[in-house]
Amino acid sequence: MAARPKTLKGRKLYIPPMAYGSATLVAAVFRSSGIDAEPTPPSNERTLLLGGRHTSGDECYPEKVTLGDFLRITERDDFDPAKTALFMPTAGGPCRFGQYAVLLEKVLRDIGYEDVLVFSPSSKDGYHGIGENMERKVWRALASADVLRKMLLRTRPYERTPGDADGVYEEGLAGLTRVLEKPRVSQGKRLEMIVEVLVAARDRFRAIPADYLQDRPLIGIVGEIFCRLNRFSNEDLARKVEEQGGETWLSDIAEWVWYTNSEKRIRIKSEGRNAAGRLAKAMVKEFVQRADEHAMYEPFEEDFVGVEEPDDIHAILDGASPYLPQEGALGEMVLSVGKSIHLHSKGADGVIDISPFSCMNGIVSEGVYPRISEDHDGLPIRNFYFDGTQVDLDQQIGIFLELARSYRARKKISPRYPKHWNRT
Ligand code: SF4
Repeated sequence: MAARPKTLKGRKLYIPPMAYGSATLVAAVFRSSGIDAEPTPPSNERTLLLGGRHTSGDECYPEKVTLGDFLRITERDDFDPAKTALFMPTAGGPCRFGQYAVLLEKVLRDIGYEDVLVFSPSSKDGYHGIGENMERKVWRALASADVLRKMLLRTRPYERTPGDADGVYEEGLAGLTRVLEKPRVSQGKRLEMIVEVLVAARDRFRAIPADYLQDRPLIGIVGEIFCRLNRFSNEDLARKVEEQGGETWLSDIAEWVWYTNSEKRIRIKSEGRNAAGRLAKAMVKEFVQRADEHAMYEPFEEDFVGVEEPDDIHAILDGASPYLPQEGALGEMVLSVGKSIHLHSKGADGVIDISPFSCMNGIVSEGVYPRISEDHDGLPIRNFYFDGTQVDLDQQIGIFLELARSYRARKKISPRYPKHWNRT
C-alpha cells in the first residue's frame, strides 16, 4: 500500500530564522491559517556540533546552521516525528541551496525520523507552493520585517542609551506578530493594521534620545542572503560595525523576492507555452506586492532619506551588467555587485560582502569588486567569509572602517540625511 502523503495538519512547523524578525512574522502567518508554527530556537554551539556531525565539509555554512538547528528540535523531550514539520524552501540552478531540503530528508531518514515532514516551497515558481492567500501574507510579513529592521539599523547607532532601539524593535515585532497571527482578517484590513503598527514603531524610534550629528561612515552590507541576515552566522557583524563607529545599510529580503519574480518572467517568456496568460498572472502578483510594499514604506519616506532602495530590481541588475551580466551570472552575486553600485550612488562609505566560506557568490563577486571600486572613486569593498571559526573579526572591521573613513573624507557624492537629524 502506498504511503499516505504527509501534510502539515496536526504538526508543528519550525521555521529557520534566516532573519530573526521575518521568521518570527512568517511563523505568525502560518498560525493565522491554523498551522502551529514557530522559529527554531536561537542557534548555539550545539547547532554547529550537530550540523557538523551530519555534513562532510563540502556543504555551505547556512546548511550546517539550519540542519543543526533542526536536529536540536529532534533532541527535545517532547519531539514527535509524526507531529513535526521543518520549513526548508528550495531553488533550482547551480546554488547548493537546492540541495538543503534533499540533504535534510536524507539525514532524517538516516537517523530514523522519516515521519518528519520537510515542507519545501520552491523559488522556481516564486514560492507559489505555499498557496495564493498565504503567499501574500508571507510577503507582507517579509516586507514589514524589512521595514522594521531598516528603522532599527537607522536609529541604533545614534541612541544615547544602549538598548533603546532594540527595545522599540522588539515591541514593533510583537505588534506585527499580533496582527499577522490573527485569523480571518480581510486583506485590506490586515494591511491597515500592519501600517498602524509600523507607524507607531516609527514614532517610538523617532522619540528615542539620540545624537544624529555623529560622523559615522555608512557601510552597505551585501552578500549571501542567509549569512548576511542571520546574526549567528555573521557574528552580528552589523552591531560590531556600529560599536566601532559605523552605521549599516543591510540588503533586505525583498530584493531577493523581486529578483526571483524577474527570473520567473524571463523563464515564462523563454518557455513560450501559454506565455501571455502566465506572464499576466505574474505581473498582477508583482503589482499587488508593490502596492503592499508601498503602503508600508510610505510613512518612512523621511526616515529613509539617504538609504532609499532602488525603485526596480532592474536598476540593480543593469548596474551589475557591465561586470556580471544577469543572463550569465545567476543568483546573489549579481545582486551584490549591482547593489554595491547603487550604494555608491547614494553616498555610502564602504561595502561589506558577507558570504559563507566557499560560496561561489562571494568568490565571483570578490573577483570583480576591485574593478567596481576602481570605476567608483575607490569605494572600499571587502569580502568577509564565515564558517563558524572566524577570528579577529573586530580587528578586520576596524581596519575596514579606517578605509571607509578615509574614503568618506574625499568622496565625490554627498549623502542625504533625514530632516530630523538636523544635519546639513
Ligand atoms: S548562495 Fe552560497 S552559501 Fe548560499 S546556499 Fe548557495 S552556495 Fe550555499
